[in-house]
Amino acid sequence: MITSEESRRAKLKLKGNKCLHCGATVQEAIARRGTVKNKFEFNHADPSKKHPRYKALIERKTFSTELLDELDKTYLLCVDCHRTLHAQHIRGRASMSFQLDGLRLNANCTGQVVADWVDRKFTFFSAQDVYTDAYYVQIGDAEPVLQFGQTLKDNFDKYLLGTKVTGQLRVYTYDMKEVFSAVKLSETDLELTHSTTFSLIPVKITDPKVGTIWMRGGWTVFQNGTSSRNGTLTVQATYPVESEKVASQ
Ligand SMILES: [Zn+2]
Repeated sequence: MITSEESRRAKLKLKGNKCLHCGATVQEAIARRGTVKNKFEFNHADPSKKHPRYKALIERKTFSTELLDELDKTYLLCVDCHRTLHAQHIRGRASMSFQLDGLRLNANCTGQVVADWVDRKFTFFSAQDVYTDAYYVQIGDAEPVLQFGQTLKDNFDKYLLGTKVTGQLRVYTYDMKEVFSAVKLSETDLELTHSTTFSLIPVKITDPKVGTIWMRGGWTVFQNGTSSRNGTLTVQATYPVESEKVASQ
């Protein structure tokens, strides 16, 4: 069993190991203070999504889907910046437009702002996720087509189920590294290969030998909080049973 301090550090690592506003790092906190306790906090950009028993949940040492889902809703801040954010209570709205090779993605986000009026530094914490990474998506034998992560995420289930007809779905990064594939094996089975770096689609695998493993946010995470940036997982899976709605169409 890991200690409370080890568990805290494991969670901070998944959130980037530094305060997103002032840049204070976990490494420096450990060097100076010997502990990260009471130094960093997770901020919910949309407080209405905060778990009703957040305090008990975030202190759990064993990692679970519930805990990782909660961390996904947060940004890492040092305690000082977190208090400043709540004291300033500045709400913000951001309109963003991303363009790449003729593709365009517009996003309107609401969120919180923490401001440093001397350094003129403002950090915006969006309450909505916007997936701006671009991927080449190959359906069947067709030429790979460039898509923003947002489009891929919105259509992912359809593409995946579509491999029953198309035979395969492959996803490559912008520089053409394959990060995901789904290949039809039979009418009921498919083979999924998922790289840790493909952070768009969270994965949970339960293995009798190693327990539960999650791949999400660019990390592979184990139940004891150990995490890694590397790795590719290949599993044989069963097609989801089509819902009545889909079947009746
Ligand atoms: Zn800070």
